[in-house]
Amino acid sequence: MKEYIERLRDGSLKMHAIESEVEDTDRAVAIRRAFIEEETGNSFKTAGSYSMSTERAAKKNCENMIGAVQIPLGVAGKLKVNGEYADGEFYIPLATTEGALIASINRGCKAITKAGGADVRIQRDGMTRAPVFAAKSVAHAMDIIRWVETHRDELKAAAESTTSHGKLTDITCFIVGTSVYTRIEFFTGDAMGMNMVTIASEKIAEIIAEKTGAVLVALSGNLCCDKKPAAVNLVMGRGKTVAAGVFLSDDMVRDIFKTDAKTMMEVNNRKNLEGSARAGALGFNAHAANVIAAMFLACGQDPAHVVEGSNTITTVDLVEGGVYVAVTLPSLQVGTIGGGTGLDTQHECLSLLGCAGGGEKSGDNSKKLAEIIASAVLAGELSLIGALGAGHLARAHKTLGR
Ligand code: NAP
Repeated sequence: MKEYIERLRDGSLKMHAIESEVEDTDRAVAIRRAFIEEETGNSFKTAGSYSMSTERAAKKNCENMIGAVQIPLGVAGKLKVNGEYADGEFYIPLATTEGALIASINRGCKAITKAGGADVRIQRDGMTRAPVFAAKSVAHAMDIIRWVETHRDELKAAAESTTSHGKLTDITCFIVGTSVYTRIEFFTGDAMGMNMVTIASEKIAEIIAEKTGAVLVALSGNLCCDKKPAAVNLVMGRGKTVAAGVFLSDDMVRDIFKTDAKTMMEVNNRKNLEGSARAGALGFNAHAANVIAAMFLACGQDPAHVVEGSNTITTVDLVEGGVYVAVTLPSLQVGTIGGGTGLDTQHECLSLLGCAGGGEKSGDNSKKLAEIIASAVLAGELSLIGALGAGHLARAHKTLGR
């Protein structure tokens, strides 16, 4: 240990290269942690005590690994889901440090389950990557776009030669002056698909450059649009576009949420729709990101994709005898294979939902996960809208005599 720390200090051993000399990944992680502790005087006694296998984590998921941060894991539910891929009652795994969040989601789960379950459907499924090319002129830019539009089959075959699960589903072109963006969309099976689509896009980009004289500037031209708030994902979708809804009778609204259907609709209109519109928000919801973040952390999803998930739109329709509450998630990126899904604790959470690893039919497990997450988001929205309806707005109605 001492010898390695000395070499790290004098620079003859690089931090990232420890694993190439020390085969046992736990030992490599311990050496790096001890070096950082010595250098900084900070103790990582707790971070250094973990149960996961570092064999995968240190090699595939986390460079310069020194330990693990722990996040409390709780469950809400059972939540009844009536989906096309998720059909049954589920305990929802949530990793969070936000007190009251799980209690709130749990109340929503109770309401949904009592109401017979959440109907949930996936409208579209496709991960995107949008390389940007430089053209010589706007005329050249349009020539490039026309070439792409008339050579889809050739591009599709080339892209699909890089993967056994990925299928090219669309290419949408955009022009900005002399820049051309090709938003390439892929069905990625049970993988979230970002690596898969990037590799396939590189192949496509090479062909476009060779055949049209376009100069590839960046494999991601930000029209994808990955991990940034963007209207393109809200409008066109990215990953899975999912909608979940439930009918609650007047009795249930009164018994569980201590409010009424009209008040729930008013809260949703004034807060989630009008307030969000005035704020120029891209998401029209109460706290979808709370549920998505906690489920993503528990289930090994890429947490940066909470950005796109927060595009959720919550709607409340007054219907005879009650209220129909729905959430629409235009851009939910999830996978049950690849990324962080293979880490031990995350794999256990996916197993709890019955969707760890690849599905019997490629894509079925990731769709099942998407349906469960959308239903849990619905539970979270219901609970918060209900609480607001029972609390603040109820008091306001009393004061204002309405
Ligand atoms: P991945 O682990 O890179 O790729 C999935 C792999 O699983 C593919 O090699 C695929 O093989 C294989 N596979 C086996 N069974 C499958 C099934 N049933 N369905 C789909 N694939 C199956 O995962 P990814 O989802 O593409 O990428 C996720 C990672 O990308 C995360 O770690 C994320 O943080 C990272 N990321 C990358 C970028 C980027 O720009 N590169 C951006 C954001 C995030 P075949 O390809 O042969 O089918």
